[in-house]
Amino acid sequence: MKCYAVFGQPIAHSLSPRIHAAFAAQAGIALEYRAIEAGRDAFADALAAFARAGGVGANITSPLKQDALELCRSASERARRCGSVNTLVREGDGWHGDSTDGVGLLRDLAERHAFDPAGRRVLLLGAGGAARAVAFALVDAGVGELVLANRTRARAEALADALGARARATDLGTLARAGRFDLVLDASAASHAGGVIALPPELFDRASLAYALSYGAPARGFLESARAAGAGRCVDGLGMLVEQAAEAFSCWHGLRPRTQPVHAALHAG
Ligand code: NAP
Repeated sequence: MKCYAVFGQPIAHSLSPRIHAAFAAQAGIALEYRAIEAGRDAFADALAAFARAGGVGANITSPLKQDALELCRSASERARRCGSVNTLVREGDGWHGDSTDGVGLLRDLAERHAFDPAGRRVLLLGAGGAARAVAFALVDAGVGELVLANRTRARAEALADALGARARATDLGTLARAGRFDLVLDASAASHAGGVIALPPELFDRASLAYALSYGAPARGFLESARAAGAGRCVDGLGMLVEQAAEAFSCWHGLRPRTQPVHAALHAG
């Protein structure tokens, strides 16, 4: 049986094993998919041990996506551009890296939220692996203006520079002066540390969509603040999770699973 895994820290509550089991059942493919806890110090050894044990594919989550790129022998253009890898494919005795987060977000926005980023004002909170992936996807999708705000401002500035003229960085502390946005994305890990980024009401109106890339309990703080600040629609990243997983599944198995039944089952609990 082919072996797959998701690596990250924390990882115990990852839904990826359940999602890939559901996709495999749809496709009639027998596979093993497990969650492997690894921090940045332990990741390279844990991945090498997984490969020695016959692992042929992996998903990578926080805080390992940028480290994963370093461990790849080759990488897709979209992974190299955003400097972030969330999908590994075993090729010979090395890893090929890909980044499916950006396409996952765009598919969820289009299919579940009827939101097209073309020409729109978007605020992106965070500048880590997931933020980098979705930022490049948003620029490619024709976003009108992309404003980046991150705890470490220098990382937001470096990302804005890499994205080009439609992106600029600002401070988390001056968001009230950034104007109103069509879409506000929380791609920070603030809630995992028990924190919430303060969201001034100037960011939102009833037409604004507030989107937490996280889902379940970690998404609650951002979604409650966005609602209190006046955002008309507030959604979590469960749909993105299922869509990025479907893209990873098609990298590994060469076929696209149906995402709607899997999303509905996860949404139901
Ligand atoms: P990451 O690479 O570790 O980046 C974390 C980001 O959060 C950095 O920008 C970091 O700022 C910021 N941050 C961390 N603690 C903070 C705090 N206390 N206050 C403010 N900012 C803080 O993580 P990632 O892989 O990008 O993941 C980020 C989030 O997206 C996670 O919640 C993850 O679950 C979610 N995600 C969801 C999906 C999905 O499919 N739905 C896919 C990918 C990721 P600094 O630069 O200052 O360290």
